[in-house]
Amino acid sequence: MNQNFTLKKSKLISDLENKGINNQDILKAIQKIPRELFLSKSFWNKAYDDNALPIDCGQTISQPFTVAYMTQLLEVEKGMRVLEIGTGSGYQAILLHLLKCNVYTIERHKPLYEKAKLFFEHNKLPISCHLGDGSKGLLNHAPYNRIIVTAASPDIPEELLKQLEDNGKMVIPVGDTTSQTMYLITKKDNNFTYEEKGKFKFVPLVGEFGFSE
Ligand code: SAH
Repeated sequence: MNQNFTLKKSKLISDLENKGINNQDILKAIQKIPRELFLSKSFWNKAYDDNALPIDCGQTISQPFTVAYMTQLLEVEKGMRVLEIGTGSGYQAILLHLLKCNVYTIERHKPLYEKAKLFFEHNKLPISCHLGDGSKGLLNHAPYNRIIVTAASPDIPEELLKQLEDNGKMVIPVGDTTSQTMYLITKKDNNFTYEEKGKFKFVPLVGEFGFSE
C-alpha cells in the first residue's frame, strides 16, 4: 500500500511540475503530506490523482494543482502571517505551515472545523483554527501578510482588503457558482493591483460577503 502511494505521489509531483509548478519548496512540502488521511477510505485509491475530491458537509478537498498554484502565486516567506478562508480538510493550511508560515484558518462548517482542529492538535501542528464566517476575514488576528480564499466569492470582500498588511498579497477566485477567475491582488501604500490568473471551479463562499445559503 505504502509503496503504491509513494509511486503515485511521485507521479503527482511530476504532473504538477509539468503544469507549471516550479517552486521546489511547495513540491517538497506536497511530497510530505499524506493526502489520503484527509479522505474517507473509499477514496484512497484516488488520493494522488490531480483532482478535487469529496470531504464531509458536501465540501471538497481542492485539486492538488489548484492548491500548489494558489500557494505559488502568494510567494510566501518564512514567518509570514497567513489567513486561509475555508479550512475544509486542513490540507492547504498544512502546506502553508510546512512552508514555515504562521497560519490562521477559518471554516464555517462545525464538523469540518472540529475534524481539522483535532488533526492539527494530534499532529502537534501550531495552526490557529477558527469557526465562523470567513467572508468577513478574521479581525481578531489581523492584519495578515497573505490571505488565501479557497472558496468561490461573488466579489472581492472589502473587509479582506482591509485586513491585508502593506505589501500584502491575496488570492481569491471570483465569479458565479459555476466558474471563477483567480485574482492575485497586491496591496502597496493602500493601492491595490489586480491580476487575473486563470479560470477555476470552487465550492461557494457562503456568508455575509459571499453567497447567501
Ligand atoms: N482549503 C480546503 C478546501 C476547502 S473547500 C482544503 O485544503 O481542503 C472550501 C471550504 O470553504 C469548505 O470547507 C467550505 O465549508 C468553506 N467555506 C465556505 N464559505 C465559508 C465562509 N464564509 N467562511 C469560512 N469557510 C467557508
